[in-house]
Amino acid sequence: MRYGIFSDVHSNGEALEAVLSAMTRDAVDQMLCAGDVVGYGPDPAACIDQLQKRKIPTVAGNHDWAVAGKLAVEWFHPQAAAAVEWTRTVLSVSHRQFLADLPLIWSDGRVTLVHSSLEESETFPYILDAAAAARSLRLQKTPAVFIGHTHRPAVYRQGQAAAEKILVNVGSVGQPRDGDPQAAYCLYDSQKRTVEFQRVPYPIEKVQKRMRQAGLPEFLIRRLEIGC
Ligand code: ZN
Repeated sequence: MRYGIFSDVHSNGEALEAVLSAMTRDAVDQMLCAGDVVGYGPDPAACIDQLQKRKIPTVAGNHDWAVAGKLAVEWFHPQAAAAVEWTRTVLSVSHRQFLADLPLIWSDGRVTLVHSSLEESETFPYILDAAAAARSLRLQKTPAVFIGHTHRPAVYRQGQAAAEKILVNVGSVGQPRDGDPQAAYCLYDSQKRTVEFQRVPYPIEKVQKRMRQAGLPEFLIRRLEIGC
């Protein structure tokens, strides 16, 4: 089974289109989304519509739950909170319901999806080092788990040979923070057990223009072109 996994779309419709087209070219059997569909960018409704139309299994990110009113924005950076407020104003009741209904964890028995970590997933902790990764890997029941949240691709491994477990951060579609502004996604072959990180370009200026028109914070607009 070949999976195409992506995360942290953050309402960036152009970047999502680029990633969906690339995964279609890659002929993946199953697409998966590790959360944060909305927040930051100008196209929250279009991004939700794409995931629904294609029936892509998706887990809840902290921004998704914040927009749905299930998580307080007091923990958010002021600019992120402003984007959450703006996003609420442009979504329909059914869009917000879609976000509210997203599960924290999804699995098909081969792979598992969670936005941040299997440990206390409802509080969205960041996995930034091996110790935090180990706490999630300990709870891992499938050979591979895919996460997002930090917007930086990473792989953590535990155990050896057939018993090896991997925890993969697939990076971000709509707001990469690893210095490469191109949209990120990941290919996983569950038979061969291979992980491939992919990047695709998209028209960043077009998205920035629409963010300015929407009155979204300048800091969020500028960071798209530097990818951090
Ligand atoms: Zn995010």
